[in-house]
Amino acid sequence: MTHHELQFIAGQRRHGRAGTSLRITDPSTGEVVATGTAASADDVDDAVAAAHTAFAGWAGTPPAERSAAMLRWAEILRQRSGELAAIESRNGGKPIKLAEGFDIPGVIDNVAFFAGAARNLEGKAVAEYSGDHTSAIRREPVGVVASIAPWNYPLQMAAWKVLPAVAAGNTIVLKPSELTPLTSLMFAESAREAGIPDGVINIITGSGQTAGQALVEHHGVAMVSFTGSTAAGRQVAATAASEVKRVHLELGGKAPFVVFDDADLEAAARGAVAGALINAGQDCTAATRAYVQRPVYDMFVHRVAALMDEVRLGPVDEPGTDMGSLISRGQRDRVADMVDRARQDGAKVVRGGKIPSHTPEAGAYYEPTLITDAAQDSEIVQHEVFGPVLVCLPFDTDDEGLTLANDTPYGLAASAWSRDVFRTQRASREIQAGCVWINDHIPIISEMPHGGYRASGFGKDMSTYSFEEYTNVKHVMSDITGEAHKAWHDLVFTSR
Ligand code: NDP
Repeated sequence: MTHHELQFIAGQRRHGRAGTSLRITDPSTGEVVATGTAASADDVDDAVAAAHTAFAGWAGTPPAERSAAMLRWAEILRQRSGELAAIESRNGGKPIKLAEGFDIPGVIDNVAFFAGAARNLEGKAVAEYSGDHTSAIRREPVGVVASIAPWNYPLQMAAWKVLPAVAAGNTIVLKPSELTPLTSLMFAESAREAGIPDGVINIITGSGQTAGQALVEHHGVAMVSFTGSTAAGRQVAATAASEVKRVHLELGGKAPFVVFDDADLEAAARGAVAGALINAGQDCTAATRAYVQRPVYDMFVHRVAALMDEVRLGPVDEPGTDMGSLISRGQRDRVADMVDRARQDGAKVVRGGKIPSHTPEAGAYYEPTLITDAAQDSEIVQHEVFGPVLVCLPFDTDDEGLTLANDTPYGLAASAWSRDVFRTQRASREIQAGCVWINDHIPIISEMPHGGYRASGFGKDMSTYSFEEYTNVKHVMSDITGEAHKAWHDLVFTSR
């Protein structure tokens, strides 16, 4: 176990000055993997100052140079992918096959994508829309961006914040979750090695209430980009509102998974288990509510239960482990309490619903859990569990299935399963969510946006749509007549 410098400011690692110790653990065993000290408000000041100092130079760097540095960065990350995956797996309690096959390659592809996108900021054509002027659009970086990320996919969430911001010429101060800062620090150090100047990417490690709050409040910050729970997102937005800072919120989800009676049932059952249990269900797009049309409901529940029995829980560094632990014992207990309350409310726990007996006692494991017979308005159906829990409920008509799918405050992601193109098209139109998958659930891709509707937030991560968040659109309107007396002046004073 090592005592780490958990801050990265102006290109240097250093200790935080808050006087609070941080213990970074492996939640699958309870072992402490690193210790360090948290950032104070003074550290936040330093990081914002470093980002300010770097801003003019980075914003003025030609896109091709920004892009070249980002391509080198992708290559450095590729060379370190084994080390990054091992740390991500251990610090997140996630199976090594998930870190190696999803977290790290996804991030590297994102870096490569934004290296290209940096050279493709778009706007309207320069043209003479009024007849008397040439109008042009400039897309300008907004300035110093404050970003706050959660613990579930630590490096991916950091990358989704950092990449569009720096590709567009902004500089950034990122606060990862205090539970999982290690790969974000390596990410920033790799950027420096690739030639991205000091101060463009800064990392502040500390709690949301102290370092996070200080960062969001900071006068030097032009924009706040937040991924996390809806409750914390509300607080962040309220703080940012006092100075009318631009806000981008990626919040919780409660994704519906709608199975019509003509669906390929084996595909749907497999998709539901994978979609519900990925990252032990700590995924804001995870399948959480399977609504299944009555004629195929029993068969679906039976098959999902059988597939859940095959999921292997175990040490995260074993390649055969399917599901690791939750992020902490606190999170595990939160999930267990929600399942217990569902049981007391009359829901049936068909599989799981308890702490497994064969995993380390100090680990935060929880069994894959399948629940039926829950009421639509119950907590387990309406609120985010963020654990390996799938609720299955039947529906009769297509109208009812789609109404139930929309019946939570969230709107991040959803899926619809059917062989009928008219049914799937209707579902993609009527389900209110930032992403609707058809006959699949979970895959993401750098070229396409990710973001919510309703209580799941607003704004997009990934894809060139994310540049809408991280750039100001400026209209430059130049007179092309050279006339002193313009016709529109007559609206204001009579010309002599
Ligand atoms: P939290 O909202 O508790 O925390 C997210 C981040 O915000 C952490 O870095 C946290 O700091 C920080 N934070 C908390 N309160 C404040 C505050 N008042 N001011 C500034 N920063 C603050 O979420 P979790 O970390 O528990 O992550 C899980 C949640 O994130 C789930 O609800 C999930 O749905 C959501 N999520 C959404 C995603 C999306 O794209 N929509 C993607 C991934 C997760 P710290 O914890 O260090 O104290």
